[in-house]
Amino acid sequence: MKIIDTMTPGKPFLSLEFFPPKERSEWPAFFRTVDRLNEVNPLFCSVTYGAGGSTHGDSLEIVSRIKQEHGMETMAHLTCIGAHEGDVRSFLDQLARAGADNVLALRGDLPQDSTPESSPHRPLLHASDLVALIRDSHPHVGLGVAAYPEVHPEAASTAADLAYLRLKLDRGADFAVTQLFFDNRIYFDFIRNAREHGITKPIIPGILPVVSLKVIKRIVSLCGTVMPPEFLAQLEEADRRGGAAEVQKLGVAHARRQAEDLLANGAPGVHLYTLNRADAVLEVTDGLRLR
Ligand SMILES: Cc1cc2nc3c(=O)[nH]c(=O)nc-3n(C[C@H](O)[C@H](O)[C@H](O)COP(=O)(O)OP(=O)(O)OC[C@H]3O[C@@H](n4cnc5c(N)ncnc54)[C@H](O)[C@@H]3O)c2cc1C
Repeated sequence: MKIIDTMTPGKPFLSLEFFPPKERSEWPAFFRTVDRLNEVNPLFCSVTYGAGGSTHGDSLEIVSRIKQEHGMETMAHLTCIGAHEGDVRSFLDQLARAGADNVLALRGDLPQDSTPESSPHRPLLHASDLVALIRDSHPHVGLGVAAYPEVHPEAASTAADLAYLRLKLDRGADFAVTQLFFDNRIYFDFIRNAREHGITKPIIPGILPVVSLKVIKRIVSLCGTVMPPEFLAQLEEADRRGGAAEVQKLGVAHARRQAEDLLANGAPGVHLYTLNRADAVLEVTDGLRLR
């Protein structure tokens, strides 16, 4: 089922992001995590593509098993930079055969020191090109795209980034999911700005419960999200005091406050970057007021 058709205004939801484990030997533990997180009754689960070296095949199999064996609606991430159109179409056919109805259409990160124009396969330079291809070849697929409350690191300007977000939605994406952020004011300002730029479709905030100082420092350095200095200082102090357990306690409490505030102030739902960690997610979501 298309995810957009399962969203009900005024009924906020949770959704979850997983990444395919690198090694097959980790899959049983991964699916136990998925099973535990079924408890939060997510509207859908998304599965990343490419990050951490996963392949199309891994994503496809995991998306299909989450749907068939765990009964959760799924969204397969799909990146287009450097991809052949034919391969993209064939992946979409495979998804359809696996019963997966939703795709998050992404450009993907560029290899270092390259530009979209240096892609060997020129027709798919931007996520908006992928959206157009999908709408043309698989018109019934549910489609999400990425949005950047703190502006995509390569964007020429805030206005240009919003214009390209609008292009993705105007070409047929149903909704957007944001990059992670730690200060809700940034999300609410972004929504206001997006609405002023004529964007009317749902923009789901993405929240990441911090579980490790080392991991979060690497993530923010890659995605361009700003870590509020006082939050970073608290995490560093927690790490000195009690190591990973203290960091997670603080990270979970912060994510929970973010989720409560977002849901209380009109966000359509909250998309949790799970990092495949059930405990942290269950602590964030325990008792949240939801659908
Ligand atoms: C929710 C979410 C999930 C993600 N999942 C994955 C994943 O599974 N695998 C993975 O590899 N990466 C993933 N990413 C990262 C993503 O691939 C990168 O952020 C990538 O750099 C941009 O992808 P995009 O789809 O936003 O690109 P685009 O929408 O193409 O935007 C990329 C940049 O190009 C600019 N731009 C857009 N269109 C044009 C145009 N027509 N002309 C000129 N400039 C333009 C934009 O302003 C922006 O600066 C994810 C990101 C998010 C937010």
